[in-house]
Amino acid sequence: MERRFARTPEDDQFVVDLRRDLHMHPELAWEEFRTAGRVAELAREAGLEVREGVAGTGVVAILRGAGTPPASGRRTILIRADMDALPILEAPGRPHGSTVPGKMHACGHDGHVAMATTAARVLARGRDQLPGDIVFAFQPAEETDGGAAPMIAAGALTGVQAAIGIHLANTIPIGQVAAQPGPVTAATDGFVVTIRGKGGHAARPHLSIDPVAIACQVIPSLHVLMTREKSPAQPGVLTIGAIHAGTVGNVIADTCEFRGTLRTYDPELRLRLRDRVVELVTGITASFRGTAVVEWDGGAYPPTINDPEVTEIVRRVAGAVVGEANVVTHEASLGGDDMAYFLEAVPGCYFRVGSANPARGIDGPGHSPRFDIDEACLPIGVDVLVGTAVAFLAGD
Ligand SMILES: [Zn+2]
Ligand SMILES: [Zn+2]
Repeated sequence: MERRFARTPEDDQFVVDLRRDLHMHPELAWEEFRTAGRVAELAREAGLEVREGVAGTGVVAILRGAGTPPASGRRTILIRADMDALPILEAPGRPHGSTVPGKMHACGHDGHVAMATTAARVLARGRDQLPGDIVFAFQPAEETDGGAAPMIAAGALTGVQAAIGIHLANTIPIGQVAAQPGPVTAATDGFVVTIRGKGGHAARPHLSIDPVAIACQVIPSLHVLMTREKSPAQPGVLTIGAIHAGTVGNVIADTCEFRGTLRTYDPELRLRLRDRVVELVTGITASFRGTAVVEWDGGAYPPTINDPEVTEIVRRVAGAVVGEANVVTHEASLGGDDMAYFLEAVPGCYFRVGSANPARGIDGPGHSPRFDIDEACLPIGVDVLVGTAVAFLAGD
C-alpha cells in the first residue's frame, strides 16, 4: 500500500482500544446512542463532515479528498459499518467483556465500527493525496429490521459509485480474507403462521378442530417443499424456529402459531417459494377444516450480491495485505444482512475478514455467548478498507 495511507502503531492501538470500549458497552438495534456519539466525535476529530441522527441513530461522515482525480473522473466510495449488538448474555470471565448483562457484541459489529473509524483516521491523514471522496455509513439495527434501507432513503448514497463493507468471521482463521463475486448472503423472509381451529375437551377431539394436529401436518410439508420443488443445485433453506399453542395437556387449543424463516439467493425462486409456502399452509389447514394466515415480516432482506470488478479490487488489495494464498472464497452462507440494500443500489463488495484463532480458544460461532475475535484481525481489516477505497478512487 502507498506509504501515505499506511497505518501507524498508534492506529493499531486505537483500533483495539475502540473495539474494546464498544465491546464493553453494547447497544441493541435502534439504541446505538453511545456508539453513534463516539463515532461522530472521532470522525469530527479526524476532520470529516458529520451528520448524526440519520435514520434514527445512524451516522454519515464524509471525507473529501484533495488529491488529483484520475482521467476517468472523480468518484466517491461508501464504507459501511453496522453498530448494533445482540440480546445475548456473554460468557463470563472475558477481560473486556460486556458490562451490560444480556447484551453482547456477538456478531463482531464492535470490530466493524472500530475498523471503519480507524480507516477514516488513516485516510484523513492522507487527504491531500486522496483522489476522491469517501462516505462512512455507520448504520443501526442490522440484526433486526435494518438500518441500511432508511439510511439510503435519507441520502447516504448520494453521489456514491461503489460500496464496501466488512464482516468479521469465525468461520475462517485469522490471517485470511474471503471475497468472491456473486451472492454472499441470502434473502431472508421471516414469517408467522397462525392456524385457527376450534378448542375443546381433549377427550372429544371429533367435536373440535385441533390446530396442533394441523401444524404437525403443515410443518413437515414445508420441509418437503424445499426438497421437492427446489433444485438441489440452488441454495435455499426453510427453518421453523418457534411454535406456540395451548397451555395444558388435556385441552385442545384454539390456535397454534409458528414462526420460521425462508432463505434463498435467486429472486425468482424466492417469489415462487413464498407463494408455495402460503398455498401449502392454507391448503393443508383447510383440508383439516381449519383456517390459516401467513404473515411475512417487514424485516426481510434481499440477497447481498458482490460486483465482480469491485470484488477484484478487494482481492488484489487483500493479497497485498495477507498474501495471495490467504485470499479465499467462503462457502455459500444463507445468513442475511442488510448490506444487501447498499449493493442493490451501487456495485460493491461485502467481504469477510477471518477472526478465529482456535489455538487460542477463539472459535465461538457468531450469535453465541462464546463469540470472540482475535484482535489481530482488526489492522488487517483497516488495511483492506483503506487500500480498496484508495484504489477505487484512483481508478486503478
Ligand atoms: Zn449477526
Ligand atoms: Zn453481523
